[in-house]
Amino acid sequence: MITCQSAATLFYLERLPCPVLVTDCSGYVLHSNLEFINLLGPGDGDTMDCYFPPASRIFLHTHAWPLLLNNGEFSEIYMQLLAADRQSIPVMANARVSDANGERVVVWLFFVAKERQRFEAELLKARQQAQDTAAKLAKVNIELQHANAQLAEYAADVKVEAEQLTQLSHTDPLTALGNRRALSLHVEQWINSATDQSVGSLLLIDIDFFKQVNDRFGHGEGDRVLCELARQLQGSVRAQDTVVRYGGEEFAVWLPYSDRQGAELTARRVHDHVARVQVVCEQITVSIGITSFALQGQEAARFLERLLSEADTALYEAKHRGRNRTVCFADL
Ligand code: GH3
Ligand code: MG
Ligand code: MG
Repeated sequence: MITCQSAATLFYLERLPCPVLVTDCSGYVLHSNLEFINLLGPGDGDTMDCYFPPASRIFLHTHAWPLLLNNGEFSEIYMQLLAADRQSIPVMANARVSDANGERVVVWLFFVAKERQRFEAELLKARQQAQDTAAKLAKVNIELQHANAQLAEYAADVKVEAEQLTQLSHTDPLTALGNRRALSLHVEQWINSATDQSVGSLLLIDIDFFKQVNDRFGHGEGDRVLCELARQLQGSVRAQDTVVRYGGEEFAVWLPYSDRQGAELTARRVHDHVARVQVVCEQITVSIGITSFALQGQEAARFLERLLSEADTALYEAKHRGRNRTVCFADL
């Protein structure tokens, strides 16, 4: 049927995803692609008129052809095609006059209106879905930012709580002094910066006959005395020294870079300050055990163990010798 089209042109016409008709400028059909044949079935005439119902055929001749021949093309004109089973098919018609190997031909492209509406509806639906998804994503994003902020706040709270707990675990709740763990920590920190020749001292201080204070004046008064004694002990030491409540009515003073002489001086100050603590009209007294020695490469645990053991032995001796006194381990 078609003789003037090149093979390449036919190749592309066949691959267009819509019905295509190629005619000469008088409307004689030169070629129809597979989509066209599938839509309408085989035509029963040589001209394209057979593919149009009467009304569209009249429109074709009175409007479409004049427009096409005048402008060389037209686009998106509503028409109806006639299928082999006599059914009318609404289409949007597009046409253009082209030059094929020196001959003027007309290429007609038809878009089935119903299909087009369906595509457009699907496109609109897809666009709506994309917008919905974008809106949901934006919402989720905001929620995520909110959750992130809460998480950061929570992490900060946990950090503060952890710091407070650490602080609490090193603090005696009655006197607010450090406890045994605080003592270990201070000694360990000193060891990390001290040399082998560095000397440190420990005072172990125990209230004399404290049980009698509780027995005679009550536990509340006993607690008050412990707090007051804690205050006096802190007034007896240097800024770099550490006072801790080591046990019930037992306190320890860690004196970094302090030898026996320095420790004895501190012990004298402790006795003087303790004399200021009174229960009714009676003064309380303490017994003190002192030990002083150089680090000499000892590891922290061993050094601390030795400090406590020697100071305790000296304290025991101070009690044994009549209380209200200081004994140095080195003198034993
Ligand atoms: P010593 O001179 O031999 O040390 O005699 P002491 O009575 O001080 O020693 P003892 O070990 O017999 O008694 C210690 C007392 O300290 C007994 C206990 O009730 C009291 N104590 C321990 N912790 C606390 C406390 O937190 N508050 C009060 N009020 N008393 C406490
Ligand atoms: Mg005791
Ligand atoms: Mg005691």
